[in-house]
Amino acid sequence: MGAPRFEVLIPHERIQQRVAELGRQIAQDYAGRSLVMVGVLKGSFMFLADLIRHIDLPLRIEFIGTKSYEGTTTTGQVQLTKDLDRPIQDEDVLLVEDIIDTGLTLNYLKHVLEQREPRSLKTVAFLDKPSRRRIEVQGDYVGFTIEDRFVIGYGLDYDQRYRNLKDLCVLLP
Ligand code: 5GP
Repeated sequence: MGAPRFEVLIPHERIQQRVAELGRQIAQDYAGRSLVMVGVLKGSFMFLADLIRHIDLPLRIEFIGTKSYEGTTTTGQVQLTKDLDRPIQDEDVLLVEDIIDTGLTLNYLKHVLEQREPRSLKTVAFLDKPSRRRIEVQGDYVGFTIEDRFVIGYGLDYDQRYRNLKDLCVLLP
């Protein structure tokens, strides 16, 4: 068996351009306010790091972790593996996701965070794979909408590897 091969789906430069656009849009929409950006571990760390450099507002960073289980039924279950360090009550919160796939994670996290009574809660996702949705949920801001392909790089892994690729790639069989 040779080394795994991959092809570039979205090159680094295009990612940077789109992330800058998203950041500027968010800064405009939240002008005059401050933000709590909640990164969903681990896949969102690179997107979050790039995105906040384009948001010229007072903000703080939190992280939250999830784990999903595929049971015998079609309804996957999601569980928290890491909670926020500080309360978000009365804060404007922006949840930062790597990718919305089935939508189960985002749906679960929205419920969890709503219970903490933020002043507002919106979501930004680097990627969206709408064809895979099992639950109706949408990102308020989305970087790129992609086909149903398994992507790696720019923070996203395959078996914990490839997160450090600068481009968004597709693993080839
Ligand atoms: P959900 O299915 O709950 O919407 O997505 C859960 C998580 O699955 C995402 O946050 C992401 O970490 C992972 N995931 C979904 N699609 C892909 C993909 O194409 N590549 C990688 N590396 N992870 C994915």
